[in-house]
Amino acid sequence: VALYVHVPFCVSICPYCDFVVVAGAATRGPRSSMSRYVAAVEVELALRANAVDDRFGAPGTPARPLLDSLYLGGGTPSLLPPESLVRLIGIVRSRFGLAPDAEVTVEANPGPDERGDLAAMREAGVTRLSIGAQSMHDDELRRLGRRHRAIDVAETVAAARVAGIASVSLDLLYDVPRQALAGFEASLEAALALEPDHLSLYALTLDDPAAEGLTGPTGDHLAPTAGARRWRERAIPEQDEDRAAAMYELADERLRSAGFDWYEISNWARPGHRSRHNLAYWWRLPYEAVGPGAHGFDGRTRRWNAAPLEPYLAALDPRDRVVGPSPWTSLPPGGEELVEGDLAIAEAAILALRTADGSAAPFVDAEVRAWMDERLEPAITGGLVARTGSGRRLMLTRGGRLLSNEVFGLLLPSRSA
Ligand code: SF4
Repeated sequence: VALYVHVPFCVSICPYCDFVVVAGAATRGPRSSMSRYVAAVEVELALRANAVDDRFGAPGTPARPLLDSLYLGGGTPSLLPPESLVRLIGIVRSRFGLAPDAEVTVEANPGPDERGDLAAMREAGVTRLSIGAQSMHDDELRRLGRRHRAIDVAETVAAARVAGIASVSLDLLYDVPRQALAGFEASLEAALALEPDHLSLYALTLDDPAAEGLTGPTGDHLAPTAGARRWRERAIPEQDEDRAAAMYELADERLRSAGFDWYEISNWARPGHRSRHNLAYWWRLPYEAVGPGAHGFDGRTRRWNAAPLEPYLAALDPRDRVVGPSPWTSLPPGGEELVEGDLAIAEAAILALRTADGSAAPFVDAEVRAWMDERLEPAITGGLVARTGSGRRLMLTRGGRLLSNEVFGLLLPSRSA
């Protein structure tokens, strides 16, 4: 029901970033990999579409609904030449089928040289722009290694409105090193003054994916550079959990009073503007994904493409079709895991609790509900999970949202042994 396209190009790499990204000469100039990437992703789209056709039939047949959402994320998909973006959306439309009212999101960076051709996007069917604002303070943006300024965010929102893009979302970070509560509040107010339809608020996390075993030839992350590691080592002592909690609480109150509904730990939306694509993830619906580091899920198996760009391009480069052995079957390297049994139940319980639906989420069956009831008592006693709706619905309290990893730990299968 959903398709994700990962576009791994940025102009420069922010030192806190753990997304699969390449930058510099790989993005711009004569040695850019962008045209090879576009050709490769077209091949991957064809291969994945063939496989879905074989399993479920043609798009629009009973077992194969048209896509409810398409999401181009990154990296900075708005850096793609407009004709490439239009072409990719056209291929998705013809091979996967897009529902007439499908949500089509593109992530964009602010700034005239990064936000892309918004009119062309609108013309191609883009309905939603997700803008990586991160902060509305120029000094914080500089500290984060961002290239844009607050004024660029305002101009990008205005340009999206002029282009007729129906839904505009802003991403903001909190727990930025040395960020004061008052400064965060001012940033939030400046963001609200732009009248976005949706806001994502993410705590800045500075983990090391290499230390967590997520990198390597089949890993879905890239290792941080030495410079990024040094930046993180300096930044971590300047973060503060209590201050971060105060920022989250302040934002939750303020967004509610501004007419936004909280609907997932990090997401708030005006009525009618929830991200249908992200809800597909949280509701465990099947989705396909292409591009380096991208994850797909068919309801039982989660698979991913490896993060490194060169092996991805080498596997899918259409020029190899002339000389390679059986190039149309050369899907990029990656991995997969079967999500079944207790793991599937635990995953469903955790995903349900991430959202405002809680245990009333549509995919929570009797088995998942029993799993939650058996394991969540300590979180209910501790005030992290509440029973609402005559005691029927279990959902995270605001305190539970702040300590969600502790609650989710209770739901993992190992705890049940
Ligand atoms: S712009 Fe976004 S995706 Fe690109 S490096 Fe910065 S944080 Fe990562």
